[in-house]
Amino acid sequence: MLDFASLATVAIVGLSMRGDRPSNQVARYLQGQGFEIIPLNPSATEILGQPCYPELAAVPQGKAIDLVAVFRRSAAVLPVAREAVERGARVLWLPEGVVDQRAAALARKAGLTVVMDRCLKKAYKAWLADGNKEVYDVLIIGAGPAGLTAGMYAARSGLRTGVFEGIIPGGAVVSTALIENYPGFAEPIAGAELMLRFLAQAQRFGVDLITENVLQTGLRGHLKRVETAEKVRYARAVIIAGGAKARRLGVPGEERFTGRGVSYCATCDGALFRDKKVVVVGGGNAAVEEALYLTRLAAEVVLIHRRDQLRAVKLLQERAFAEPKLRFSWDTVVEEIGGNQAVELVRVRNVKTGVITEIPCDGVFVYIGYSPALEYLAGQVAKTPEGYIAVDATMATNVPGVFACGDIRNTPLRQVATAVGDGAIAAAAVDKYLVFRQ
Ligand code: NAP
Repeated sequence: MLDFASLATVAIVGLSMRGDRPSNQVARYLQGQGFEIIPLNPSATEILGQPCYPELAAVPQGKAIDLVAVFRRSAAVLPVAREAVERGARVLWLPEGVVDQRAAALARKAGLTVVMDRCLKKAYKAWLADGNKEVYDVLIIGAGPAGLTAGMYAARSGLRTGVFEGIIPGGAVVSTALIENYPGFAEPIAGAELMLRFLAQAQRFGVDLITENVLQTGLRGHLKRVETAEKVRYARAVIIAGGAKARRLGVPGEERFTGRGVSYCATCDGALFRDKKVVVVGGGNAAVEEALYLTRLAAEVVLIHRRDQLRAVKLLQERAFAEPKLRFSWDTVVEEIGGNQAVELVRVRNVKTGVITEIPCDGVFVYIGYSPALEYLAGQVAKTPEGYIAVDATMATNVPGVFACGDIRNTPLRQVATAVGDGAIAAAAVDKYLVFRQ
């Protein structure tokens, strides 16, 4: 069966202005389902609110045409089929009673899918009903502050909303011990606790939390396809809020000892190193905050940084320098993580002197930034040179109906407060996008 989800634009040759004509009824139905209709009729300039063209060749060249439906006599189909091939259409559709074997052969030879003598509306309805397809208004990939806020706003404005979360809701914030700069919370709040409150609020408005990993997406069509190992779901719009993954050092021993001394989450694993010695790698806010957190558990913490000054904000630096349990190893990079069953040492190199030394330790916490988690997008949306998703001020990507917000986008600041603002804007933009298309 033809995968209708991947189709976005439908050109209707012979689209009548009269509401009682089959061409008009089919077009109106498909428009209501979210397809973009391109009317073709030499005696009209606008039909169903869309600019109308006399023939396929007159449609602006930049406009992709996915399906061409020909509501004409069978004898008039052949030249239209030629034009459809020329315009790079993917499907040629001839409604009930319209048959032309020569036109069909020509189109098939050029790689088009050809359907003849079948009602497009009935076929689409049958496709929708096949396998009980789950169709959402919006599916949101990622349940961190951006995704949950977008979900809350979308569900609250009446959209059927699903939010995907791979393992636990809350995203990277869950691994933050304490957050003290989220407005409204005068006392610091644990990242996990804050995210549980976000989740409860989103669910109160009817968000479906889908605890499955997104593996693949098809974003081009009028219905976006989101696939997990368990299921395929569809949505009229998608918000990508998958955040960023902890960056790896990429040194020998890192992979082998992950979970056996190497960690990317002090809140999750810090308690395993009570009264032991740990190193933290990095010099940004995350490294300094988590190093300070670890001083409450570990006997000694060494912060290894590749430069001789921290990137973290001044307040954190002052706290770090005042903390007696925290030592610094400046101008130093990790070359290798060593041990037998678990981590026993890191081999480090001073970048100024080249001298290699070993620091004995039980744990290595890596906080060297994040990179956007984009695997399931397979290059379908435009990115910045730094690899983040490029969006405009409404969080819209270059693909119609696809939005992105939070850490995964081209933002100047990656904070809970900014992610929340992004999420609200993205949901409002989706709402507008869906209303505009009905
Ligand atoms: P970050 O600000 O990008 O800092 C990454 C640190 O790791 C930098 O010090 C960098 O060194 C170092 N680094 C990068 N690659 C490295 C490598 N291969 N080997 C050794 N060191 C390496 O990342 P972050 O601290 O994880 O923070 C991520 C984002 O979350 C930031 O926007 C941050 O402001 C935000 N955040 C905010 C808070 C807060 O506001 N309280 C808390 C946590 C995170 P250089 O300095 O030499 O570049």
